[in-house]
Amino acid sequence: MTHRLSGPGRRVPWPAGAADAVGTPIQPSVVYRSTDPDALDDRYEGRAPGYSYAREGHPNADVLARAIDALEGAEGGIITGSGMAAVTAVLMGLLRSGDHVVGGDQLYGRCLRLMRDDLPRLGVATTLADPTDIEAVAAALRPQTRLVLVEVVSNPTLRIADMDGLARLCAERGILLVVDNTFTTPRGYRPLDHGADIVIHSVTKLLSGHSDATLGYVAARDPDHRRAITDFAVTAGLTPSPFDCWLAERGLHTFALRYDRAESNAAALADHLASMPGVRRVLYPLRPDHPDHARARHLLGARGGTMVSFEVADARAAANALTRGAGAVPFAPTLGDIGTTLSHPASSSHRGLTEAERRSLGIGEGFFRISLGIEEIGQLTEEFTEAVRMSQS
Ligand SMILES: *Cc1c(COP(=O)(O)O)cnc(C)c1O
Repeated sequence: MTHRLSGPGRRVPWPAGAADAVGTPIQPSVVYRSTDPDALDDRYEGRAPGYSYAREGHPNADVLARAIDALEGAEGGIITGSGMAAVTAVLMGLLRSGDHVVGGDQLYGRCLRLMRDDLPRLGVATTLADPTDIEAVAAALRPQTRLVLVEVVSNPTLRIADMDGLARLCAERGILLVVDNTFTTPRGYRPLDHGADIVIHSVTKLLSGHSDATLGYVAARDPDHRRAITDFAVTAGLTPSPFDCWLAERGLHTFALRYDRAESNAAALADHLASMPGVRRVLYPLRPDHPDHARARHLLGARGGTMVSFEVADARAAANALTRGAGAVPFAPTLGDIGTTLSHPASSSHRGLTEAERRSLGIGEGFFRISLGIEEIGQLTEEFTEAVRMSQS
Protein backbone atom coordinates (compact mmCIF):
# COMPACT_ATOMS: atom_id res chain seq x y z
CA MET A 1 0.00 0.00 0.00
CA THR A 2 2.73 2.47 1.04
CA HIS A 3 4.52 2.24 -2.31
CA ARG A 4 1.33 3.36 -4.10
CA LEU A 5 1.33 6.59 -2.09
CA SER A 6 4.85 7.65 -2.93
CA GLY A 7 6.80 8.40 -6.11
CA PRO A 8 6.28 10.90 -8.93
CA GLY A 9 2.73 12.28 -9.06
CA ARG A 10 1.84 10.88 -5.63
CA ARG A 11 1.66 13.32 -2.75
CA VAL A 12 2.49 12.39 0.82
CA PRO A 13 -0.61 13.02 3.03
CA TRP A 14 -0.72 16.20 5.10
CA PRO A 15 0.46 15.30 8.62
CA ALA A 16 -2.15 14.67 11.31
CA GLY A 17 -2.25 17.59 13.74
CA ALA A 18 -1.49 20.25 11.12
CA ALA A 19 -5.07 21.46 11.42
CA ASP A 20 -4.34 22.48 15.04
CA ALA A 21 -2.07 25.33 13.91
CA VAL A 22 -2.96 28.65 15.58
CA GLY A 23 -1.89 30.76 12.59
CA THR A 24 -4.08 30.83 9.46
CA PRO A 25 -2.85 28.12 7.06
CA ILE A 26 -2.25 28.93 3.42
CA GLN A 27 -3.83 26.64 0.84
CA PRO A 28 -2.44 27.24 -2.66
CA SER A 29 -4.07 24.17 -4.22
CA VAL A 30 -5.89 24.87 -7.47
CA VAL A 31 -8.01 21.71 -7.33
CA TYR A 32 -9.95 19.81 -4.69
CA ARG A 33 -11.03 16.17 -4.99
CA SER A 34 -14.56 14.85 -4.58
CA THR A 35 -15.67 11.38 -3.58
CA ASP A 36 -18.16 10.96 -6.44
CA PRO A 37 -20.35 12.97 -8.84
CA ASP A 38 -23.17 13.12 -6.27
CA ALA A 39 -20.80 14.80 -3.80
CA LEU A 40 -19.74 17.24 -6.52
CA ASP A 41 -23.42 18.01 -7.22
CA ASP A 42 -23.94 18.73 -3.52
CA ARG A 43 -20.98 21.07 -3.51
CA TYR A 44 -22.02 23.00 -6.61
CA GLU A 45 -25.64 23.25 -5.43
CA GLY A 46 -24.51 24.57 -2.05
CA ARG A 47 -25.84 21.57 -0.11
CA ALA A 48 -22.38 20.70 1.17
CA PRO A 49 -19.37 22.90 1.95
CA GLY A 50 -16.14 22.53 0.03
CA TYR A 51 -14.22 23.68 -2.99
CA SER A 52 -13.49 22.33 -6.43
CA TYR A 53 -11.36 24.80 -8.43
CA ALA A 54 -9.48 27.83 -7.06
CA ARG A 55 -10.75 30.34 -9.63
CA GLU A 56 -14.23 29.61 -8.24
CA GLY A 57 -13.17 29.99 -4.62
CA HIS A 58 -10.64 28.86 -2.06
CA PRO A 59 -10.25 28.89 1.74
CA ASN A 60 -7.83 31.85 1.95
CA ALA A 61 -10.20 34.08 -0.02
CA ASP A 62 -13.11 32.99 2.17
CA VAL A 63 -11.24 33.64 5.42
CA LEU A 64 -10.38 37.16 4.25
CA ALA A 65 -13.88 37.82 2.90
CA ARG A 66 -15.55 36.80 6.18
CA ALA A 67 -13.18 39.07 8.13
CA ILE A 68 -14.01 42.09 5.92
CA ASP A 69 -17.74 41.18 5.99
CA ALA A 70 -17.59 41.49 9.76
CA LEU A 71 -15.99 44.96 9.53
CA GLU A 72 -18.48 46.21 6.93
CA GLY A 73 -21.57 44.59 8.44
CA ALA A 74 -21.93 42.71 5.15
CA GLU A 75 -22.81 39.16 4.21
CA GLY A 76 -21.33 36.96 1.48
CA GLY A 77 -18.71 39.42 0.22
CA ILE A 78 -16.11 38.15 -2.24
CA ILE A 79 -12.42 38.83 -2.75
CA THR A 80 -11.13 39.81 -6.19
CA GLY A 81 -7.64 40.04 -7.65
CA SER A 82 -7.55 43.85 -7.32
CA GLY A 83 -9.74 46.78 -6.35
CA MET A 84 -10.35 47.45 -10.05
CA ALA A 85 -11.42 43.81 -10.47
CA ALA A 86 -14.07 44.42 -7.79
CA VAL A 87 -15.34 47.56 -9.55
CA THR A 88 -15.33 45.72 -12.89
CA ALA A 89 -17.20 42.72 -11.47
CA VAL A 90 -19.96 45.02 -10.17
CA LEU A 91 -20.34 46.94 -13.41
CA MET A 92 -20.06 43.97 -15.76
CA GLY A 93 -22.08 41.66 -13.53
CA LEU A 94 -25.05 44.02 -13.16
CA LEU A 95 -25.24 46.31 -16.19
CA ARG A 96 -26.56 45.64 -19.66
CA SER A 97 -26.31 47.61 -22.87
CA GLY A 98 -28.78 50.52 -22.81
CA ASP A 99 -28.30 51.18 -19.08
CA HIS A 100 -27.00 54.48 -17.77
CA VAL A 101 -24.57 55.00 -14.90
CA VAL A 102 -23.72 58.10 -12.87
CA GLY A 103 -20.20 58.25 -11.43
CA GLY A 104 -18.63 60.72 -9.01
CA ASP A 105 -16.53 63.26 -10.91
CA GLN A 106 -13.49 62.61 -8.71
CA LEU A 107 -13.49 58.81 -8.75
CA TYR A 108 -10.24 56.84 -8.75
CA GLY A 109 -8.47 57.37 -12.11
CA ARG A 110 -9.11 53.93 -13.59
CA CYS A 111 -12.78 54.12 -12.53
CA LEU A 112 -13.05 57.37 -14.46
CA ARG A 113 -11.57 55.55 -17.41
CA LEU A 114 -14.21 52.80 -17.14
CA MET A 115 -16.83 55.56 -17.13
CA ARG A 116 -15.37 57.52 -20.02
CA ASP A 117 -14.12 54.77 -22.34
CA ASP A 118 -15.07 51.20 -21.55
CA LEU A 119 -18.73 51.36 -20.51
CA PRO A 120 -19.71 53.62 -23.44
CA ARG A 121 -17.84 51.26 -25.80
CA LEU A 122 -20.10 48.45 -24.55
CA GLY A 123 -23.33 50.42 -24.89
CA VAL A 124 -23.65 51.69 -21.32
CA ALA A 125 -24.05 55.48 -21.19
CA THR A 126 -22.31 57.32 -18.34
CA THR A 127 -22.41 60.76 -16.75
CA LEU A 128 -20.02 62.19 -14.17
CA ALA A 129 -21.46 64.41 -11.44
CA ASP A 130 -20.22 66.09 -8.27
CA PRO A 131 -21.37 63.84 -5.38
CA THR A 132 -21.04 66.68 -2.85
CA ASP A 133 -23.91 68.40 -4.75
CA ILE A 134 -27.11 66.34 -4.62
CA GLU A 135 -28.86 68.64 -7.13
CA ALA A 136 -26.09 67.94 -9.65
CA VAL A 137 -26.47 64.18 -9.18
CA ALA A 138 -30.27 64.39 -9.42
CA ALA A 139 -29.93 66.38 -12.64
CA ALA A 140 -27.66 63.68 -14.11
CA LEU A 141 -30.21 60.86 -13.58
CA ARG A 142 -32.13 59.43 -16.54
CA PRO A 143 -34.96 56.89 -16.73
CA GLN A 144 -32.31 54.30 -17.72
CA THR A 145 -30.02 55.06 -14.75
CA ARG A 146 -29.34 51.75 -13.04
CA LEU A 147 -26.47 52.58 -10.73
CA VAL A 148 -24.60 55.42 -9.02
CA LEU A 149 -20.93 54.86 -8.12
CA VAL A 150 -19.27 57.19 -5.60
CA GLU A 151 -16.46 57.44 -3.07
CA VAL A 152 -17.21 58.99 0.34
CA VAL A 153 -14.00 61.04 0.41
CA SER A 154 -12.56 62.20 -2.90
CA ASN A 155 -8.95 61.98 -3.96
CA PRO A 156 -6.96 64.20 -3.71
CA THR A 157 -9.10 67.16 -2.63
CA LEU A 158 -10.79 65.19 0.20
CA ARG A 159 -14.29 66.49 -0.54
CA ILE A 160 -17.07 64.66 1.34
CA ALA A 161 -19.96 63.23 -0.72
CA ASP A 162 -23.53 63.91 0.41
CA MET A 163 -24.06 60.26 1.39
CA ASP A 164 -27.43 60.81 3.12
CA GLY A 165 -28.76 62.72 0.12
CA LEU A 166 -27.45 60.08 -2.31
CA ALA A 167 -29.00 57.22 -0.33
CA ARG A 168 -32.37 59.01 -0.26
CA LEU A 169 -32.26 59.90 -3.96
CA CYS A 170 -31.25 56.40 -5.07
CA ALA A 171 -33.89 54.75 -2.86
CA GLU A 172 -36.63 57.03 -4.23
CA ARG A 173 -35.67 56.31 -7.82
CA GLY A 174 -34.91 52.58 -7.44
CA ILE A 175 -31.26 53.07 -8.40
CA LEU A 176 -28.40 51.03 -6.92
CA LEU A 177 -25.98 53.01 -4.76
CA VAL A 178 -22.45 51.57 -5.03
CA VAL A 179 -19.80 52.95 -2.67
CA ASP A 180 -16.04 52.55 -3.10
CA ASN A 181 -15.08 52.69 0.59
CA THR A 182 -11.30 52.37 0.11
CA PHE A 183 -10.39 55.76 1.60
CA THR A 184 -12.86 55.84 4.47
CA THR A 185 -12.66 52.15 5.45
CA PRO A 186 -15.30 50.62 7.73
CA ARG A 187 -13.54 52.33 10.63
CA GLY A 188 -14.64 55.69 9.22
CA TYR A 189 -17.97 54.82 7.59
CA ARG A 190 -20.02 51.70 6.86
CA PRO A 191 -21.97 52.33 3.63
CA LEU A 192 -24.37 49.38 4.03
CA ASP A 193 -25.56 50.85 7.37
CA HIS A 194 -26.49 54.06 5.56
CA GLY A 195 -28.50 52.87 2.58
CA ALA A 196 -25.83 51.73 0.11
CA ASP A 197 -26.58 48.55 -1.87
CA ILE A 198 -23.02 47.54 -2.63
CA VAL A 199 -19.66 48.27 -0.98
CA ILE A 200 -16.30 47.95 -2.73
CA HIS A 201 -12.71 48.07 -1.46
CA SER A 202 -9.26 48.16 -2.86
CA VAL A 203 -7.93 45.81 -0.15
CA THR A 204 -4.50 46.67 -1.57
CA LYS A 205 -4.59 49.89 0.45
CA LEU A 206 -5.49 50.32 4.13
CA LEU A 207 -7.11 46.97 4.90
CA SER A 208 -4.08 44.92 3.87
CA GLY A 209 -1.80 47.81 4.73
CA HIS A 210 1.70 46.71 3.76
CA SER A 211 1.82 47.38 0.01
CA ASP A 212 2.63 43.75 -0.73
CA ALA A 213 -0.72 42.36 -1.95
CA THR A 214 -3.06 43.57 -4.71
CA LEU A 215 -6.68 42.64 -3.90
CA GLY A 216 -10.26 43.86 -3.89
CA TYR A 217 -13.49 43.14 -2.05
CA VAL A 218 -17.14 43.56 -2.95
CA ALA A 219 -20.30 42.85 -0.97
CA ALA A 220 -23.89 43.33 -2.13
CA ARG A 221 -26.96 43.48 0.06
CA ASP A 222 -29.18 41.60 -2.43
CA PRO A 223 -28.32 37.89 -2.91
CA ASP A 224 -29.24 38.09 -6.63
CA HIS A 225 -26.71 40.89 -7.14
CA ARG A 226 -24.19 38.92 -5.14
CA ARG A 227 -24.63 35.91 -7.44
CA ALA A 228 -24.39 38.00 -10.63
CA ILE A 229 -21.23 39.77 -9.44
CA THR A 230 -19.61 36.52 -8.29
CA ASP A 231 -20.48 34.72 -11.52
CA PHE A 232 -18.88 37.44 -13.62
CA ALA A 233 -15.77 37.50 -11.41
CA VAL A 234 -15.37 33.72 -11.72
CA THR A 235 -16.05 33.71 -15.47
CA ALA A 236 -13.67 36.57 -16.20
CA GLY A 237 -11.03 35.21 -13.81
CA LEU A 238 -11.04 38.28 -11.55
CA THR A 239 -10.55 36.06 -8.49
CA PRO A 240 -7.49 36.29 -6.22
CA SER A 241 -4.35 34.35 -5.41
CA PRO A 242 -4.38 32.42 -2.10
CA PHE A 243 -1.02 33.84 -1.11
CA ASP A 244 -2.20 37.45 -1.52
CA CYS A 245 -5.31 36.64 0.53
CA TRP A 246 -3.15 35.10 3.23
CA LEU A 247 -0.95 38.21 3.38
CA ALA A 248 -3.96 40.52 3.49
CA GLU A 249 -5.69 38.52 6.22
CA ARG A 250 -2.53 38.78 8.27
CA GLY A 251 -2.40 42.53 7.62
CA LEU A 252 -6.05 42.94 8.52
CA HIS A 253 -5.40 41.83 12.11
CA THR A 254 -3.61 45.12 12.77
CA PHE A 255 -5.87 47.27 10.60
CA ALA A 256 -7.65 49.02 13.48
CA LEU A 257 -4.38 49.77 15.28
CA ARG A 258 -2.72 51.03 12.12
CA TYR A 259 -5.74 53.10 11.14
CA ASP A 260 -6.07 54.85 14.48
CA ARG A 261 -2.38 55.66 14.61
CA ALA A 262 -2.26 56.92 11.01
CA GLU A 263 -5.38 58.99 11.62
CA SER A 264 -4.00 60.72 14.70
CA ASN A 265 -0.79 61.36 12.73
CA ALA A 266 -2.89 62.88 9.93
CA ALA A 267 -4.75 65.24 12.28
CA ALA A 268 -1.51 66.35 13.94
CA LEU A 269 0.40 66.80 10.68
CA ALA A 270 -2.50 68.76 9.14
CA ASP A 271 -2.36 71.26 12.02
CA HIS A 272 1.42 71.41 11.84
CA LEU A 273 1.41 72.12 8.09
CA ALA A 274 -1.28 74.78 8.52
CA SER A 275 0.99 76.61 10.94
CA MET A 276 3.92 76.71 8.49
CA PRO A 277 4.87 79.68 6.35
CA GLY A 278 5.15 78.41 2.77
CA VAL A 279 2.01 76.26 3.05
CA ARG A 280 -0.84 77.98 1.21
CA ARG A 281 -3.67 75.62 2.02
CA VAL A 282 -4.27 72.45 4.04
CA LEU A 283 -7.16 70.07 3.42
CA TYR A 284 -8.22 67.76 6.25
CA PRO A 285 -11.89 66.91 6.83
CA LEU A 286 -11.89 67.66 10.56
CA ARG A 287 -10.29 71.09 10.25
CA PRO A 288 -12.86 73.90 10.51
CA ASP A 289 -11.48 75.45 7.29
CA HIS A 290 -12.33 72.33 5.23
CA PRO A 291 -15.08 73.10 2.66
CA ASP A 292 -17.21 70.12 3.83
CA HIS A 293 -16.33 70.34 7.50
CA ALA A 294 -19.93 70.13 8.79
CA ARG A 295 -20.77 67.13 6.59
CA ALA A 296 -17.54 65.39 7.59
CA ARG A 297 -18.48 65.83 11.26
CA HIS A 298 -21.96 64.51 10.60
CA LEU A 299 -20.91 61.45 8.54
CA LEU A 300 -17.55 60.57 10.04
CA GLY A 301 -17.82 61.89 13.60
CA ALA A 302 -14.32 62.25 14.99
CA ARG A 303 -12.86 60.20 12.12
CA GLY A 304 -10.94 62.55 9.85
CA GLY A 305 -9.18 59.73 8.01
CA THR A 306 -5.55 59.08 7.20
CA MET A 307 -5.11 61.44 4.25
CA VAL A 308 -3.98 65.08 4.26
CA SER A 309 -3.61 67.33 1.23
CA PHE A 310 -1.73 70.62 1.14
CA GLU A 311 -0.44 73.19 -1.24
CA VAL A 312 2.86 75.03 -1.58
CA ALA A 313 3.99 77.51 -4.27
CA ASP A 314 2.36 76.67 -7.60
CA ALA A 315 5.50 75.77 -9.57
CA ARG A 316 7.10 72.51 -10.70
CA ALA A 317 10.46 73.60 -9.26
CA ALA A 318 8.90 73.97 -5.80
CA ALA A 319 7.25 70.54 -6.16
CA ASN A 320 10.55 68.91 -7.19
CA ALA A 321 12.34 70.52 -4.25
CA LEU A 322 9.64 69.41 -1.82
CA THR A 323 9.71 65.73 -2.80
CA ARG A 324 13.52 65.70 -2.74
CA GLY A 325 13.48 67.37 0.66
CA ALA A 326 11.00 64.93 2.19
CA GLY A 327 13.74 62.72 3.62
CA ALA A 328 12.59 59.17 4.30
CA VAL A 329 9.02 59.75 3.06
CA PRO A 330 8.77 58.01 -0.33
CA PHE A 331 7.37 59.99 -3.25
CA ALA A 332 5.18 57.13 -4.44
CA PRO A 333 1.68 57.05 -5.92
CA THR A 334 -0.07 54.80 -3.41
CA LEU A 335 -1.88 55.08 -0.11
CA GLY A 336 -2.68 53.09 2.98
CA ASP A 337 0.80 51.68 3.55
CA ILE A 338 2.29 51.33 7.06
CA GLY A 339 4.73 54.05 5.98
CA THR A 340 3.79 57.61 5.04
CA THR A 341 3.82 58.28 1.30
CA LEU A 342 3.67 61.50 -0.64
CA SER A 343 1.89 61.93 -3.96
CA HIS A 344 1.81 64.76 -6.46
CA PRO A 345 -1.49 64.42 -8.39
CA ALA A 346 -0.50 66.74 -11.26
CA SER A 347 2.29 64.35 -12.31
CA SER A 348 0.67 61.03 -11.29
CA SER A 349 -3.00 60.25 -10.57
CA HIS A 350 -4.30 63.31 -12.45
CA ARG A 351 -1.75 63.60 -15.24
CA GLY A 352 -4.37 62.36 -17.75
CA LEU A 353 -6.43 65.52 -17.21
CA THR A 354 -5.77 68.75 -19.02
CA GLU A 355 -4.24 71.53 -16.96
CA ALA A 356 -7.57 73.41 -17.09
CA GLU A 357 -9.41 70.33 -15.75
CA ARG A 358 -6.88 69.99 -12.94
CA ARG A 359 -7.18 73.67 -12.08
CA SER A 360 -10.96 73.41 -11.93
CA LEU A 361 -10.47 70.74 -9.23
CA GLY A 362 -8.00 73.02 -7.43
CA ILE A 363 -4.97 70.88 -8.31
CA GLY A 364 -1.94 72.93 -9.31
CA GLU A 365 1.78 72.11 -9.41
CA GLY A 366 2.09 72.86 -5.69
CA PHE A 367 -0.65 70.42 -4.65
CA PHE A 368 0.37 67.31 -2.65
CA ARG A 369 -1.48 64.48 -0.95
CA ILE A 370 0.01 62.65 2.01
CA SER A 371 -1.12 59.16 3.03
CA LEU A 372 -0.14 58.91 6.68
CA GLY A 373 1.58 55.85 8.08
CA ILE A 374 2.29 54.72 11.61
CA GLU A 375 5.61 56.49 12.21
CA GLU A 376 6.40 58.65 15.24
CA ILE A 377 4.67 61.98 14.63
CA GLY A 378 7.81 63.91 15.64
CA GLN A 379 9.73 62.34 12.78
CA LEU A 380 7.02 63.29 10.30
CA THR A 381 6.68 66.91 11.42
CA GLU A 382 10.46 67.26 11.19
CA GLU A 383 10.60 65.77 7.69
CA PHE A 384 7.73 67.86 6.36
CA THR A 385 9.12 71.01 7.95
CA GLU A 386 12.31 70.42 6.01
CA ALA A 387 10.44 69.50 2.82
CA VAL A 388 8.34 72.69 2.88
CA ARG A 389 11.45 74.76 3.68
CA MET A 390 13.18 73.26 0.62
CA SER A 391 10.18 74.11 -1.57
CA GLN A 392 10.63 77.76 -0.67
CA SER A 393 14.31 78.03 -1.55
C1 LIG B 1 -6.40 51.99 -5.46
C2 LIG B 1 -7.85 52.28 -5.59
C3 LIG B 1 -8.66 51.50 -6.45
C4 LIG B 1 -8.10 50.40 -7.30
O1 LIG B 1 -7.59 49.38 -6.52
P1 LIG B 1 -6.42 48.37 -7.04
O2 LIG B 1 -6.30 47.41 -5.92
O3 LIG B 1 -5.20 49.20 -7.28
O4 LIG B 1 -6.94 47.76 -8.30
C5 LIG B 1 -10.01 51.80 -6.51
N1 LIG B 1 -10.54 52.81 -5.79
C6 LIG B 1 -9.80 53.56 -4.96
C7 LIG B 1 -10.44 54.63 -4.19
C8 LIG B 1 -8.42 53.32 -4.84
O5 LIG B 1 -7.69 54.08 -4.02
